[in-house]
Amino acid sequence: MYHENTLRELLKLTAPKAVLSVYLNTEPSKGSAEAYRLRLRNLLKEVDLPQDVQAVELFFNRQFDGAGRGVAVFSCVEKDFLQIFPLAIPVHDAVFVGDRPNVRPLADLLDDYGGYGVILIDQQGARLFHFHLGELQEQDGMFGGEVKHAKDGEDSAFRGGQTRAYEAMIERNVKEAAAFAVDFFEKKHIRRILIGGSDHNVALLRTQLPKAWQSLVVGTFPMGMTASHTDVLERAMEVGQQAERKREAHLIERMITSAAKGSSAVAGLEDTLAAVNNEQVMTLVFLQDYHAPGYRCQDCDFLVTKSEGVCEGCGGVTETVPDLVSRAVGSVLSHGGDIETIHASDALQQVGKIGALLRY
Ligand SMILES: [Zn+2]
Repeated sequence: MYHENTLRELLKLTAPKAVLSVYLNTEPSKGSAEAYRLRLRNLLKEVDLPQDVQAVELFFNRQFDGAGRGVAVFSCVEKDFLQIFPLAIPVHDAVFVGDRPNVRPLADLLDDYGGYGVILIDQQGARLFHFHLGELQEQDGMFGGEVKHAKDGEDSAFRGGQTRAYEAMIERNVKEAAAFAVDFFEKKHIRRILIGGSDHNVALLRTQLPKAWQSLVVGTFPMGMTASHTDVLERAMEVGQQAERKREAHLIERMITSAAKGSSAVAGLEDTLAAVNNEQVMTLVFLQDYHAPGYRCQDCDFLVTKSEGVCEGCGGVTETVPDLVSRAVGSVLSHGGDIETIHASDALQQVGKIGALLRY
């Protein structure tokens, strides 16, 4: 389990050319333990860090219990460092060697699956769930006052009063549920909220949530109160991903419009790298499969697409790097910025597959 802070901490680890990052898909449906061990051996074949390769293999052979659907391992024997992240979400097999951990795949997972709050609501109460990275973290529930219908046969004036009392009771319960939910989610790094229940109850709950929380609601769906947490998780992942696409589209539109006006945003690799080098980036936005080779200054860390071997910023020596984008991710995260990985967007494609919202 990890959060943005974990990734920032991880990026403090630097060692010239000697951090090994390994991502392995261990989904049971993809084959046995033997199968992923074989894939791992093939991945590590090309890596010229015998001690780190040994440390990673030792972990998989001796300690790894095969639980989960993926795992990330960062090794730097030189610094006596080994960190493991078991994952409940599948990842692509990949190996990286560099002067710091490659956390980009972990940042992607955080972006799509981090910090879900789900509220199931009915007339009487609520069930609350906190999911993070595909796993249930915590759940809780509350029940308000009992809601009674007027009985048949009672006179209409009495029934009218009963109906009003009935609706008032529901409203009171939903109001209480909203307060309960805010309290539950407040300290849990919630990035988005989903609400399940009947249309009427969902709408009622929405109006009872504080404004700031209403803006975190990314989806609603019909679901009964007795659903299992696996059902809720499945629904949350689906609805969340759809909402994510929509939010991404808005973000890209805002970024491109602002960049065109030259106000607090940039688009395209050159301008984005300049902003990254100036530590101006608030949110780095790029297409998931975008990679671009380039150069990095060994002294000041500046990233550039073209270099004659000398850094224009500080006069230091530049070296080639296979992927400027993952370098930029590392730099932005280590300076307190955020990452937004986009799965598909024609608009972003057209402006060069990468851009950023700036702090100023
Ligand atoms: Zn430099």
